[in-house]
Amino acid sequence: MAGLYLHIPFCKRICAYCDFYRSAELKYLDSVVEAMHCEMDEQANFLNDKILKTIYFGGGTPSLLHPEQIERFIDHASRLYDCSGVEEITIEANPDDITEEYVAALRKTDVNRVSLGIQSFDDEELRFMNRRHSAEEAIDAVKRLQDSGIENITIDLIFGVDGFGEEVLNRSLDTALALGVQHISAYHLTIEPATTFHRRVQAGRMKEVDEELSEREYALIEKRLTEGGYEHYEVSNYAKAGFRSRHNSSYWHGAEYLGIGPGAHSFNGSVRRWSSQSLPQYISGREYESETLSQTEHFNEYVMTSLRCCEGMDIELIKSRFGEERLARLLAEAKTQIAIGNLVLNDGRLYIPTERFLTSDAVIEAFFEM
Ligand code: SF4
Repeated sequence: MAGLYLHIPFCKRICAYCDFYRSAELKYLDSVVEAMHCEMDEQANFLNDKILKTIYFGGGTPSLLHPEQIERFIDHASRLYDCSGVEEITIEANPDDITEEYVAALRKTDVNRVSLGIQSFDDEELRFMNRRHSAEEAIDAVKRLQDSGIENITIDLIFGVDGFGEEVLNRSLDTALALGVQHISAYHLTIEPATTFHRRVQAGRMKEVDEELSEREYALIEKRLTEGGYEHYEVSNYAKAGFRSRHNSSYWHGAEYLGIGPGAHSFNGSVRRWSSQSLPQYISGREYESETLSQTEHFNEYVMTSLRCCEGMDIELIKSRFGEERLARLLAEAKTQIAIGNLVLNDGRLYIPTERFLTSDAVIEAFFEM
């Protein structure tokens, strides 16, 4: 079964850390929406699998769309694919878009999961990140969604922000836990080029947090959330039982997905494809770049996605899909990491223990084949 991703690349305000593909040129929004419907028709045959399991509206800020526009996309998808078994339809939303009216209209759509980009429940930290909502607005948004009957809410939090240490993070976690949302994503801040934070770092007005603080904050999140009843199932993701993200989980398990919208990526099991990022170009006629994955790239992709998840790699699957020789190389490479506790080999699976997830990038890279 496949996933459909719809990328709404517009934001009213640009966050200080953000390097996603997004634009503040809202004048293009309606034309991009129309072009996305054209792209859905043009690309309907990209997926081999015509049964959709998940639909995900990401961005950018999809909550800039009226819920009627959201439903129109869902209707369109159901004309192109078998949507009778769709399990999860998620919309990412900015808390200050979640008004009473918006929620009432959203409840008339088939959306059953809302992902709120909250990042922090500390007003000063929110201002520092140039977020456009306050802590109070974030709390109100969650409660409003809960009161309306939405039973699958996920929130994003950011940690590792210079000047906002464990105390601030701990208070944000108190609030997140008290709200009782079903899913929490916690991302370590990375300073990306061409962001406001990058400029601040270069000007000496901000620094990246040191490794020790990163580790302490990571351990704090892990402890508080697992004690709070969340399963740490992927490097940055925690879920209550039965509430893992189905859409993202299928990416991590190699399922096909079709990405619609400027700059969105698609994958059909062998080809990865992405559209032009310029909005005027996307509106006037889409251009694509693509690559066909080699066996080595498939292997690297499997290593990367599976080791980020708590189940890790399936030894039998590696043998059948990638061959005994590759498996032998991988197991030889794993020995050192197993000896120092960065990896565990148990019951036919090779995985990173959750308390070592923070070091996952280095462990994963060691297995990459060139
Ligand atoms: S709302 Fe999201 S996509 Fe938009 S600028 Fe902020 S972080 Fe980036």
